Amino acid sequence: MTNSAEPAGGYDLAVVGAGPAGLAAAATAAEHGLRVVLLDSAPRPGGQFYRQPAAELRAARPQALHHHWPAFQRLLGRVDAAAERVTSLGDHHVWSVTGESGAFTVRALTGPDQRQARSVTARQVLFATGAHERQLPFPGWTLPGVVGAGGAQAMLKAGLVLPGRRVVVAGSGPLLLAVASSLAAAGARVPLVAEAADYLGYAAGARVLAANPGKLVEGAQHGAVLLRHGVRLRPRTAVVAAHGSDRVEAVTLARLDAAWRPVPGTEWRVACDAVAVGHGLVPQLELPLELGCRTRRLPDGSAALVVDAAQRTTVPGVWAAGESTGIGGVQLAVAEGELAGRAVAGQTAAPRPLLRRRARLRAFADLMAARHAPGSGWTGWLDDATEVCRCEEVTVREVRSAVAELGAADQRTVKLLTRAGMGWCQARMCGPAVARLCGAPSADGPDVPGPDVAVAGQDDGAPTRPLSTPVPLGLLAECDTTAPSSEGAPR
Ligand SMILES: Cc1cc2nc3c(=O)[nH]c(=O)nc-3n(C[C@H](O)[C@H](O)[C@H](O)COP(=O)(O)OP(=O)(O)OC[C@H]3O[C@@H](n4cnc5c(N)ncnc54)[C@H](O)[C@@H]3O)c2cc1C
Repeated sequence: MTNSAEPAGGYDLAVVGAGPAGLAAAATAAEHGLRVVLLDSAPRPGGQFYRQPAAELRAARPQALHHHWPAFQRLLGRVDAAAERVTSLGDHHVWSVTGESGAFTVRALTGPDQRQARSVTARQVLFATGAHERQLPFPGWTLPGVVGAGGAQAMLKAGLVLPGRRVVVAGSGPLLLAVASSLAAAGARVPLVAEAADYLGYAAGARVLAANPGKLVEGAQHGAVLLRHGVRLRPRTAVVAAHGSDRVEAVTLARLDAAWRPVPGTEWRVACDAVAVGHGLVPQLELPLELGCRTRRLPDGSAALVVDAAQRTTVPGVWAAGESTGIGGVQLAVAEGELAGRAVAGQTAAPRPLLRRRARLRAFADLMAARHAPGSGWTGWLDDATEVCRCEEVTVREVRSAVAELGAADQRTVKLLTRAGMGWCQARMCGPAVARLCGAPSADGPDVPGPDVAVAGQDDGAPTRPLSTPVPLGLLAECDTTAPSSEGAPR
């Protein structure tokens, strides 16, 4: 991959995110003659699925931790083959994109401690920024040793380390199977996988499953690894508390009813020194929301970008591919990246097989989102002292009192009243839980949680914010974010 100076007049396309979707989009657009700049906050391309070990670890067989490694090599090969037209900027965290079709400015932080500014200009922008994990808190979840399920996977793939020797995997979604099988194959003892939903629910989508045999094969492969390592899969089960003094030493698990309410009397304790927990993924949308892109509600309550058949968002000159348009897995991300790359380059007739592939995989994604949508009863495992926002140490009691006593009906008002979501992570961790805790009372009961986020352009209070990541004040002061700039640093 190359790293050359910006062409006079700027790039034809800036792709934010070098995961499977961004790589496919950049390669395809460059193959059709566009000059592309590909930016990613990670030092190496690959995103979450193809996360590579840090170069200094000199991993002898990085492919050992990956499925579909040859497909990744092919993607990298295509980007390399188009190297004259692709400028790849790793370790560039994009914090703002401003402008309009024909003249966008993409501002990033890079260098030691992310204190160096760099901006590029491009006629069009494509967001392939992926997703982050949805965390639903439980008593004890802030103990050392409790990590995100995707985080555990990232530790293994990037750092070649395990989060512990005896790891309980819990939460909801197919990612848990991938995480548990990787941890077990890498030498961790995984006593069980607690899945809050029920895999039987997939039977309702028999036609969608039949159209996606590859997904069934993938599930069976993970199942075989789990079987080989003696890992039990417990559906309708959740970790409802973690225990320990300096770090986690055990968890309490409980059976759940169909609404994810813990069933009294079913609790049992399991010893462990780590918990890898995640309740699905949520599209990462700060940058496109800043530009005014509309979103839609997914079957699991989260918001994703609205795109048309060509992966065009509702803002002219802005495109999106991969998990930012809905959580769907690596193959869907690549298909969307290919389609977007072609369309940005003006190829109006997309190959029919590619369109069919996207439709088939999107149908599976919707089925998956519906099956693993958090049930309203999860709040039943909280106690008043549970921290919801760990950055600002805001408890369930404080959030509930903001809702019940002060009348807060949305995430933003709870934030203003309690500081939940005002810390370093800017609600990436606690946002979905806070939003779900402040659902309006309804006929179903007083504590029916709302969806993850408001839908931009449809609901009030869509959580747009001008900066997608913490930025040093000195840099902000130098920067005019209202006008495009063609210089190498912000004005
Ligand atoms: C933590 C985590 C772990 C996962 N592990 C697995 C797994 O093991 N197996 C599996 O099947 N699926 C996994 N997934 C799902 C997987 O991410 C997707 O199926 C697939 O990678 C989606 O590809 P993508 O290109 O849309 O997004 P991603 O692969 O997430 O790529 C997005 C890229 O955008 C970059 N980015 C985001 N914001 C910015 C910014 N502001 N500036 C610069 N760069 C930015 C990120 O660094 C990342 O490289 C995981 C997801 C997450 C969130």
